[in-house]
Amino acid sequence: MLGPAISRSQIAKQLRDLGVGPGSVLLVHTSFSKITPVEDAPQGLIAALRLALGREGTLVMPSMTEDDDRPFDSKTTPCIGMGIVSDMFWRLPGVLRSDNPSAFAAVGEQAVRITAPHPIDPPHGLDSPVGRVYELDGQVLLLGVGHDANTTIHLAESLAGVRYRRKKYVTVVKDGKPTRVDYQEIDHCCQNFNLVDRWLEERGLQRKGYVGHAEARLAQSQNIVTVAVEQLRMNETIFLHPKGVDVECDEARESIATPVQ
Ligand SMILES: [Zn+2]
Repeated sequence: MLGPAISRSQIAKQLRDLGVGPGSVLLVHTSFSKITPVEDAPQGLIAALRLALGREGTLVMPSMTEDDDRPFDSKTTPCIGMGIVSDMFWRLPGVLRSDNPSAFAAVGEQAVRITAPHPIDPPHGLDSPVGRVYELDGQVLLLGVGHDANTTIHLAESLAGVRYRRKKYVTVVKDGKPTRVDYQEIDHCCQNFNLVDRWLEERGLQRKGYVGHAEARLAQSQNIVTVAVEQLRMNETIFLHPKGVDVECDEARESIATPVQ
């Protein structure tokens, strides 16, 4: 059953109670269907996030495309698969978007730095928007989604030096023509990223509450990376399913024994 619509100011209060501080750099992953109904949705949610962050804060959202066959255009390519809030966010006045198939969008004090050019490979390394949120000691907010949606854990994999990869490609414009670029990405089904929830909870490094009607989790990017890197150093394949569960994790496992060419 849907509850009553929650106002913008109530959501801002929920965010502050959770620990979103004025002036923070905040990377948000959302599932809007879990949050609604809220006032002026989904613009109301974005406005509430900006209200909680204040003038000096920075709001960041994933803004990537899933279309590998057409060149990414930061002005026109939709952000499919990351939810309607993310796809609305990059279109708003004043919001910057990085020019990369693994784009992120940002508004606020650190937006220029966060959306500065970044390499296609690796998409979520230190020199990427999630890497910059980490370096700026930013926070990660999961709204109605679990850590399986948390791209900062890919940064941890990159920093831990995991060897598994999956074959990927994107299309870029080169010499005026669409050109396919093949690369290998640290990737798998990502379901087991949910293990991070317990690791953070055990150390009191995560705050939980409600934002709108959704369960919300808030943690420092650096704490997410620390707990994940520690576990990856003990067991490189801790996030991969056992063989035979899904093709993504199987491909990643196989790449360790036989590196992808
Ligand atoms: Zn899997």
